[in-house]
Amino acid sequence: MKKSIIGLSRNQIGELLLSLGVSEKNLKMRISQIFHSIYFKGSKKIDEITTISKKLREDLNQSYSLERNKIKKEVVSKDKTRKWLLSLQDDKEIETVFIPEKKRGSLCISSQVGCTLNCSFCHTGTMPLVRNLTAFEIMSQVLLAKDELDDWEGNSDIRKLTNIILMGMGEPLYNYEEVSKAIKIIIDSEGINISKRKVTLSTAGIVPMIERLGEELDVGLAISLHAVNDDIRNTLVPINRKYPIKELIAALKKYTEAKSSRKITFEYVMLKNVNDSISDARELCRIISGIPAKINLIPFNPWPLSIYECSDEKKIRAFSEVITRAGYSSPVRKPRGRDIMAACGQLVSQSKRTSRHDQGGINV
Ligand code: SAH
Repeated sequence: MKKSIIGLSRNQIGELLLSLGVSEKNLKMRISQIFHSIYFKGSKKIDEITTISKKLREDLNQSYSLERNKIKKEVVSKDKTRKWLLSLQDDKEIETVFIPEKKRGSLCISSQVGCTLNCSFCHTGTMPLVRNLTAFEIMSQVLLAKDELDDWEGNSDIRKLTNIILMGMGEPLYNYEEVSKAIKIIIDSEGINISKRKVTLSTAGIVPMIERLGEELDVGLAISLHAVNDDIRNTLVPINRKYPIKELIAALKKYTEAKSSRKITFEYVMLKNVNDSISDARELCRIISGIPAKINLIPFNPWPLSIYECSDEKKIRAFSEVITRAGYSSPVRKPRGRDIMAACGQLVSQSKRTSRHDQGGINV
C-alpha cells in the first residue's frame, strides 16, 4: 500500500519534495500548496492538488496517496451526536465522536487504541490491547469527520467543526510526539485552521509533560481531577500514585503563571457516595485556589459491568453551588450521545468487552 501524506509535518513533506527534486527555493510554497489542498480543500487524491505541476503530482503518485482510514460504522444519537468506528490498517479500531451544539461543533478524537491508565470508572480502560495512534490516524479522524459533515472550505461559509477536543480514547500525553504533530496541523492556518484556543487536550495529569505542552503547543488544557485527596484519587485515577495531587497542582500553578491568559478546565466526574459530598466540593475549591480555572462537573456515564452510579441531580446541584459561590464557574456537562455509548468514558471498540477482572497489566 502507498504511504499516505496525511499526518506528515511540513518538514517531512519538505524532505519528501526535496527527494523528488523540488528546489530549495520553491520548497516552502510547494509545501503550503499541498497543505492547503489536503487540509483546507479536502482533496482525497493527489491528482486533485492542481496547484502543483502535473509532473510533481505523477512523481508523488508513485509511492504516496491521500488515503485516510476507513469508517466501519456510524451511529447517530437521538440528540444528533454522531459516533464513528474507524478501522485501522492493522484491523484495530478506534472511535471518534462529533457533538453538534447550537453555535459550535466539537470533535472528540482518540489518541490511542485503548488506554493504559485503567481509571476505575472509565470504559476505555477495559480494552485489552493498547497502542499509540500515529499522526496519520489522528488526522484521519479529523478529515473523515469533515468528509462526513461536508465541512470543507468552499462547501459552506459556516464551519460545522469548530472545536477539537482530545478527550476520546487514550492518554494524549503518553503519545506526545504524534499528538503534537497532529495538533500542529490542526492549528496551522493553511491546515485545518482551528485556533489553538479551540483545541483542548484532556489529561489525567502526566505531570512532567505539562510544562512541555505549554511551551510547545499552548492549547487549552483540561485535567481529569475527579477526587480531592490521594486515597480516593489513587483508586479512581491510578496514575495518581505516580503523580499525586500536590505535584499535579504545583505543575498547574506554574503552567498558569507562565501566561496570564491561561485557565485550567478541571473535569470532575460525579460518582454517587464516592466523591460528591459538600466537604469534597469545599476541599476542591481549597486545593485549586490560586489557579484560574473552571470546573466541569461530569455526570457519570454508566457502562456494562461498571461498579459506580451517577450522583443524584440534587447532589450535583449542591456540589456545583459550593464551587460557584467560591467564584468558579462550574457547568454540569450535559451527557451527549449516551444512547449510543458515545458519552465521556464510554468509548470502547473491541468486540470483546472485558470486565475489570480480566485485565492484565498492559503497557504501551
Ligand atoms: N486520558 C485523558 C483523556 C480521556 S478524556 C484524560 O484522562 O483526561 C475523557 C474524560 O471523560 C476524562 O475526564 C475522563 O475521566 C472522563 N470519563 C471517563 N469515564 C467516564 C464515565 N464513565 N463517565 C463520565 N466521565 C468519564
